[in-house]
Amino acid sequence: MVGPVSRTPLSPCPVCDTQIDAATAAFSMQSPNPGDFSICVECGAVLRYDGELQLRWVSWEELEALPLELFREIAIAQQALFQLHRKR
Ligand SMILES: [Zn+2]
Repeated sequence: MVGPVSRTPLSPCPVCDTQIDAATAAFSMQSPNPGDFSICVECGAVLRYDGELQLRWVSWEELEALPLELFREIAIAQQALFQLHRKR
């Protein structure tokens, strides 16, 4: 389930430098909050919003510490994104 698009403060993806200023909630209707996870629409990197809603890179150790359900949701969203890119 994909929610509405929310505007966020402009923040570069720390991996590919794409300027990101919007987010779509993949599993809820909420706009992003500090600490929420995101996936770069361009390169698929797993990112996380800091206190100022700036995106930062997420370490593998941080991902491994996530509850299995959240880890699975991130993987599903990433797969959906990669399939979209393949269709381009
Ligand atoms: Zn990126």
